[in-house]
Amino acid sequence: MTVASWIARNAGWRPDKLALVSGDRRYTYSQFNSRVNRQVNGLLAAGFKKGDRVAVLANNTSEAVEAVAAAAKGGFVHVPISFRLSPREVEQILRHSGARFLFLEQEFTETVNKIGQCPDLVRIVRHNPSDAATSEHEAWLAAQDDAEPAVDVTGDDNFLIVYTSGTTGSPKGALFQQKHSVAHAPVPVILYDIKEDSRLLMVYPHNSIASINMYYVPAWLVGGTIVLADARGFSAERWLSQVQAERITHCHLVPTMLIRVLESGAVPSYDVSSLETIGYGSAPMPRERVEQLAATFGDILVQGYGMTETSSLAAVLTKADHLKALAGDGRQLAACGRPVFGTELRVVNENGDDVSGEEVGEIIFRGQYITPGYWNDPERTAQAIRGGWLHSGDLARVDQDGYIYVVDRKSDIIISGGYNVSSKEVEEVLCWHESVREAAVVARPDPEWGERVHAFVVPREGHNADQATLIDFCRQKLARMKCPDRIEFVAELPRNALGKLVKGELRARVSRDTLQAART
Ligand code: ATP
Repeated sequence: MTVASWIARNAGWRPDKLALVSGDRRYTYSQFNSRVNRQVNGLLAAGFKKGDRVAVLANNTSEAVEAVAAAAKGGFVHVPISFRLSPREVEQILRHSGARFLFLEQEFTETVNKIGQCPDLVRIVRHNPSDAATSEHEAWLAAQDDAEPAVDVTGDDNFLIVYTSGTTGSPKGALFQQKHSVAHAPVPVILYDIKEDSRLLMVYPHNSIASINMYYVPAWLVGGTIVLADARGFSAERWLSQVQAERITHCHLVPTMLIRVLESGAVPSYDVSSLETIGYGSAPMPRERVEQLAATFGDILVQGYGMTETSSLAAVLTKADHLKALAGDGRQLAACGRPVFGTELRVVNENGDDVSGEEVGEIIFRGQYITPGYWNDPERTAQAIRGGWLHSGDLARVDQDGYIYVVDRKSDIIISGGYNVSSKEVEEVLCWHESVREAAVVARPDPEWGERVHAFVVPREGHNADQATLIDFCRQKLARMKCPDRIEFVAELPRNALGKLVKGELRARVSRDTLQAART
């Protein structure tokens, strides 16, 4: 089975069904398929062939979605690139992936003008999503044949190189074949209830694995509709109005986005009754917020846990799990779920034995949609995949019912006076205080303790937060060694394109300040 076959099948089975909404443009499955065929035939006619890397640098545009379908049908390898990256970072990905072709949204031409020579890159086609008449891409498509391309693609063909978002180091290109997306697709379809009449609002940027494996491919499996949201910065009001206007049934968001929706207080002003599933994940979500979300939107919450390297979902806290937890003591709301089908997930200690009870170990995976490795990076592949198991770098506990509780990322654990402190636990406690909107906790080098707990706090509007009160609050809730001894107030926390915390930046800042203080 291939992703390619699902796209062609939809054009045959449901030609007039709405496939994609991108700004003012609305394409049926028949129109979408025809645009995709033209793209493939255009690439083939220009001499590009199966296995060639085809990159896309764009916001969430129809062309970026079509490029994924074209890669599937033409056997090309899709390399999505975030428009937020600097010219240096874009160049790094183009060079590392050996991209030969680039679909470029006109708006980001400047970025590409600033990059150095990429020896493999031989052709760029620009698109202008807001004006077809001036779009080079439209003229190029119009000149191509829209017949089904005669390329023999299989599930074993390389399909995607997705560069991880880089919260823990320089980006790595996780490689996937079509069979990985095919095996993963039934997971969101079943656990998020995606059906033919579903309308999925994609707020994730096109370069995230979730956009492909949580939106496009599942929608193509069942014939659903994808609606694209601008990825240039999330606005609660824009999200709510798009949900209302397009009668959205499904949306997956990161916690920061949902927290903004809750804090906007605007939900009652919109008709969000079409929503059937709200997915959240990609980063930890404080338990109180889950309760608030359930009170606001009802029993439609699903949490997903996974990594780029796991195609997306590796564990899910289902709607039924939420219901059970909300009706009981709520304990499982702190979990990220239980392993999904098609993947094996274990939590193991340093001896490789499964942990139990309160013991914390590392999450490892093996299965049908785990990456076989990083593109052109044998060293980091060997570091991550050992003995056939992908090592996540996430530390977790497992309860007797099999629910997984992510404690922290290995790299975010603070070792203070020999004790392991979970930065996530401290962040959660800080967020319980009414004056705290967001918190991030990192290690600060300390000559006596090795490391101390250092917190950054974004205060809630209209509240006065002060260091002494918050430290005192933590002391009432946490063991002494877990309490931050210093709190810095900031207007916002550094986040990547997906809205995930980039703790490396905070750690660098703390180390710099500590060094400076020692010198003076
Ligand atoms: P890099 O791997 O380059 O550092 P990244 O970690 O941001 O970048 P992703 O693959 O986007 O790359 O993120 C995966 C990580 O996100 C997981 O390892 C985990 O730490 C975190 N994560 C994902 N889902 C959840 C969740 N539901 N709860 C808590 N953490 C989550």
